[in-house]
Amino acid sequence: MIQQRPDVALNVVMLGPPGAGKGTQAERFAGSHGLPRISTGDILREGIHANSELGRSAKATIYSGGLVSDDVMIKIVGERLARPDAGRGFVLDGFPRTVAQATALDGMMSGRGPLVVVDIVVPEDVLLRRLAARRICGNCGVNAQVDWTTSCASCGGELVHRRDDSDQVVLERLKVYHRQTKPIVDFYSRRPTFRAIDGNQPPDLVTAAMDTAIFQASAIGEARA
Ligand code: ADP
Repeated sequence: MIQQRPDVALNVVMLGPPGAGKGTQAERFAGSHGLPRISTGDILREGIHANSELGRSAKATIYSGGLVSDDVMIKIVGERLARPDAGRGFVLDGFPRTVAQATALDGMMSGRGPLVVVDIVVPEDVLLRRLAARRICGNCGVNAQVDWTTSCASCGGELVHRRDDSDQVVLERLKVYHRQTKPIVDFYSRRPTFRAIDGNQPPDLVTAAMDTAIFQASAIGEARA
């Protein structure tokens, strides 16, 4: 098994369409390797929940399935990556989403070690079924697991459909994904640290495939640095 050298940061970007399982896998990988998971969707939803200036300005865009502006997102991620807990590495979930964001991220990476990019690939009909079935906790926002019935196992809150998971908004999010986010796959795909993973298999198998792919890619990235 490939081990990560303790002095090399593990910097991971997760790509994939809405419903690919990025959030779940990012959480698992970050949790098992002691890295912060930085989800821009969660940061924005927390802003909406707290009615902060960011939340108020981003709300309409998010609920219609569009993208928040590059300037705002690049600033948020730049500040988050500058925090000490991201020094040993991070798992980015939801950023970059445009080529402008990917270019800005490259600029933020100087002196930080290799950037491993994982693309979780899932056929569109499977994504549509998953998003229609997805429920989150209306109180704390975590994704519901299949064995939860009507309430959240961590806080007891009621399970609800995510507001931007309604049929019409999902179609818009997938359209935006193909137009603005899919080009990032081309942006990264020729790098030696890029890996595509089959996301249409049981979650534990995706987790295992990701673990292997990330450590291999990181070792290659480090050897070339
Ligand atoms: P999913 O991965 O299920 O599409 P997220 O939780 O990552 O959803 O994001 C929800 C919404 O937040 C997006 O549809 C978009 O409006 C906004 N958002 C999140 N990250 C970004 C980003 N990097 N750039 C622009 N908008 C973003």
